[in-house]
Amino acid sequence: MLSLPIEVEEIRKKARKFALENFKDDIAMKYDTEEKFPFELWKKAFSEGLINFSNPWVMLVTLEEFCRVDPSLGIATLIPTFGSEILMLFGNDEQKKKYLEPVLKGERISGVAITEPVAGSDVAGIQTKLEKDQSGNWILNGQKIFISNGTIADHLYVLARSSQPPSFEKRHHGLTLVIVEKKMKGFSSSQLKGKLGVRATNTAELRFENVVIPPENIIGEIGKGFYYIMVFFNISRVYVATQAIGLAQGVLDELLDYLVTAKKESNPIADYESSLFLLAEIATRIEAARSLTYKAADLVFKFTPDPILTSMAKYYASEVANFAAEKSLEFIGNDAMISKLERFYRDAKIMEIWEGATEIEKLVISRMLIKNRMEKNEQ
Ligand SMILES: Cc1cc2nc3c(=O)[nH]c(=O)nc-3n(C[C@H](O)[C@H](O)[C@H](O)COP(=O)(O)OP(=O)(O)OC[C@H]3O[C@@H](n4cnc5c(N)ncnc54)[C@H](O)[C@@H]3O)c2cc1C
Repeated sequence: MLSLPIEVEEIRKKARKFALENFKDDIAMKYDTEEKFPFELWKKAFSEGLINFSNPWVMLVTLEEFCRVDPSLGIATLIPTFGSEILMLFGNDEQKKKYLEPVLKGERISGVAITEPVAGSDVAGIQTKLEKDQSGNWILNGQKIFISNGTIADHLYVLARSSQPPSFEKRHHGLTLVIVEKKMKGFSSSQLKGKLGVRATNTAELRFENVVIPPENIIGEIGKGFYYIMVFFNISRVYVATQAIGLAQGVLDELLDYLVTAKKESNPIADYESSLFLLAEIATRIEAARSLTYKAADLVFKFTPDPILTSMAKYYASEVANFAAEKSLEFIGNDAMISKLERFYRDAKIMEIWEGATEIEKLVISRMLIKNRMEKNEQ
């Protein structure tokens, strides 16, 4: 496995200490039950230097260690910067100063709004409309659902259709990314409650009714939004894979504690072959998922992403997280049903869905493998 620089490993230790102190079980349960966003934990993590975009490995190991202790609080604490890479890569200097800098300083919250009632995996199928008016402004109309930070974000990066595509096959043409501020007239949002997991994160439905978007709030070039989002997914998928390895490691911690206690109490379950096989299987899968994720992350952070590896990492790590949580819950039985594992089991599911569902990751992998082989054959 890729070994990380010593200063990153120091951050990992700091992040673990922070999570153990601040995400204690009673606190995690409270946020889970109340479906409340942890503003104070987000501020605290910033003040301790754990949210720091100047080194993406800092973000990665912090996310991993946070999710190991509590995935819901771990994700919620770090998600206020969601979408920052979009402005880092495609925003202009004014946009970076006005919107990105306050987010990176922990003063404001951002979000990314793509999904609609009619379009989730099918990003190109979105129907939110962006039309130019006579004064040179753009008018936004439409609806988004399941948007993280939706009611707490100060601004959101919203994908909308700005022109009709030339054909069905070219629907990814004519999509544009715009910055929508919470205070803009015609924008409204309402929180969705009752989610299966990650209940400390804020999720909302958004509405845009004739929202006036000034030209300076267009990100990059008109009509290029789909490409920008695909580049962003190549980064964000590595972070979802990281959430998953953190969660799986947290499950392994629980399972190990359970078996060590059983061994001390001379409970024969600790020596059952099935117990030992399960432990070995989960530990091996986590190591494999971590190696894959770090390899994909290393390429992304060096600006040479490999979408095949990124999709493999996201697909495999999220599968490992769900496997570990489900099998450990089944194995421990009754006690697990009212323990931390119950929350981990619920929190794991989203990792197979957001930023590209498992089937979509598999399609990316297979299509790119075939494309690469065809190109090679043509040479
Ligand atoms: C808690 C939460 C937070 C979220 N946060 C955000 C956010 O911040 N911003 C945002 O834009 N979205 C967000 N989402 C939405 C999320 O990204 C979508 O749910 C996801 O993209 C899947 O879309 P969908 O639910 O419409 O499923 P669908 O696209 O309808 O897919 C349903 C099923 O069909 C499969 N499928 C779809 N297409 C194909 C195909 N071509 N071939 C084979 N199988 C296929 C999928 O894999 C899936 O299993 C969030 C969702 C949740 C639950």
